Amino acid sequence: MGAPEIKESSYDVAIVGGALAGAASAILLLREQPKLRVLIIEKSLVFGRRVGEATVEVSGYFLSRVLGLTQYLNEAHLVKQGMRFWFYNNQTQSLDECSEVGGRYLSRVPAYQVDRAALDEEVLRRAVGLGASLLRPGSVSRIALVPGGEQVLEVKQGDQLRKISARWVIDASGVAALLARQEGWWRPNTLHPTTAVWARWTGVKDWDGFELAKKYPQWSMACNGIRATATNHFVGPGWWAWCIPLKGGDVSIGVVFDQRLMGWPENGSLGDRLKQFLSRHPVARELMAEAQWREGDVHWRKNLPYYSTTFAGDGFVLVGDAAAFLDPFYSPGMDWISFTTSAAADLILAQQKGAAVAARVNKHNQDFSRSYSEWFQALYQDKYEYMGDFDLMRLAFLLDLGLYYLGVASQPYKRGAKALIEPVFSTPLSVPFFRLIRAYNRRFAQMARSRHRRDQWGKHNHRFRFLFQGYTFATSNAWPLFRAFRGWFWLELTEGWRTWFTRLGPGGIARVPLDLPRYWDATRAAGITPLAPALKASTLRFSFAFGSFCSVHFLRVATKLRRWIGGPTARW
Ligand SMILES: Cc1cc2nc3c(=O)[nH]c(=O)nc-3n(C[C@H](O)[C@H](O)[C@H](O)COP(=O)(O)OP(=O)(O)OC[C@H]3O[C@@H](n4cnc5c(N)ncnc54)[C@H](O)[C@@H]3O)c2cc1C
Repeated sequence: MGAPEIKESSYDVAIVGGALAGAASAILLLREQPKLRVLIIEKSLVFGRRVGEATVEVSGYFLSRVLGLTQYLNEAHLVKQGMRFWFYNNQTQSLDECSEVGGRYLSRVPAYQVDRAALDEEVLRRAVGLGASLLRPGSVSRIALVPGGEQVLEVKQGDQLRKISARWVIDASGVAALLARQEGWWRPNTLHPTTAVWARWTGVKDWDGFELAKKYPQWSMACNGIRATATNHFVGPGWWAWCIPLKGGDVSIGVVFDQRLMGWPENGSLGDRLKQFLSRHPVARELMAEAQWREGDVHWRKNLPYYSTTFAGDGFVLVGDAAAFLDPFYSPGMDWISFTTSAAADLILAQQKGAAVAARVNKHNQDFSRSYSEWFQALYQDKYEYMGDFDLMRLAFLLDLGLYYLGVASQPYKRGAKALIEPVFSTPLSVPFFRLIRAYNRRFAQMARSRHRRDQWGKHNHRFRFLFQGYTFATSNAWPLFRAFRGWFWLELTEGWRTWFTRLGPGGIARVPLDLPRYWDATRAAGITPLAPALKASTLRFSFAFGSFCSVHFLRVATKLRRWIGGPTARW
């Protein structure tokens, strides 16, 4: 065989990876500038099934209204009915005894359960339809970055080696994170060592079907919506599992756990171990009694979160998982795709129109490193400490979701697609919200630890139900959110005081500053202090504790209103 042939060709934009993030980037670019020469290079011949099957409200907006897929999503996938959580403790024997948190009726804002193998093919097909060239299967092995010049990609296609030059490279290579690893920007997020194990299953029982309705009539009648097409979460100490139905009958079920808080069964095939693990939860045990994983479709991934210290330069942008990954809880993956691809297209289109790039690149790096860092600290750091406790998760869910609706999900609906250029927690206005969310999540983690010590953890995991109406973008939304804050306040007064003066210290999860040099440098330069000084924090804590101690005497008279304050949680 002779030496591999080298072919040369040139484009305006070369996109590495043709899955959702890559193909969506091409659509955003070509819709604005149809004459742009865009090449997508995709390694796989066909997309296999992959995780990333539940959208939330932002990614729902992005797929349906920005990419224009509403009709396709309604026809080829499933409309999602919110999130539900199922709890258990040592007393709980059967599905109907598990405490439940979720919506009473159908969801108010659209989101979808998608089969990514089908969705990604469709988005790629549409990108090609708009004029993108597709090189498939083709694998990019190296990218020579030339700031402000032509980037050079080495591409293997069969036994051919091609050199492709482009003014811009979009790295959408997913967890392969081609550019971040090549350039030494890739960092593991060691503060959050999580592992996931998942499979696609056949034979999972119908949540809303006749069998379960007959066996557990009261349980069945408690919810007036559809349980089956929600993302149902089975939760336990330090772990959670998703149950996502796919069009056609298969169900995606997988578990995510914090390696510091939970071990994983050692023996047997991965599918066996996954089923054995999930069987400890009464809801999963019932639903999966006759379920079988699809052969060849059982997977695991260790140490999930990571990030790149650089997100863009004059000539390249990182999008989707190639830029960073947080945690699958609350399904932020496709939200991150919505933000990274929208901002990438905005940057490239501005340069193509003749705008100066340097300041925009700086802002892009600053926004996304800040977004990743604050998104992680506010919502995910130490969250698995209280994962599985009904009281703490119910309150956190109401607060997290209410604030997400108020500050994030409502934005594209009110301001249009331009809201997606500003990633979560990247604007000065978001700073107090970031601190607030981080504060209550840390407090819940501390309370969970105290509950474990006092043998009180999960005390309401058995036979409690909280079904709420769901949030909207209306101002009346403030009311359930306000009630959730009162619930937090009440919890502080009744049990949180035990940990007001303790820190998450020995025996708990280490708190080390995240290594995000570019973010810290950029925020310092902008006059933003990323972390409150320790002294100020302890003074604030003392004032809060003292104030609360005084008010507790006044609030004693309100003890009888506790149920009302805690929201419509029904025990049966
Ligand atoms: C356990 C788990 C559960 C999750 N659940 C959800 C969820 O419910 N909702 C949600 O929104 N997100 C979820 N996510 C995140 C979601 O899966 C990802 O954010 C999303 O799939 C990333 O899409 P992407 O297009 O960036 O990358 P990918 O889908 O990984 O695509 C990358 C593409 O690049 C190609 N490629 C790679 N290297 C090269 C190369 N050198 N040359 C050419 N092509 C290349 C690959 O073949 C692939 O097609 C989950 C993640 C995990 C780990």
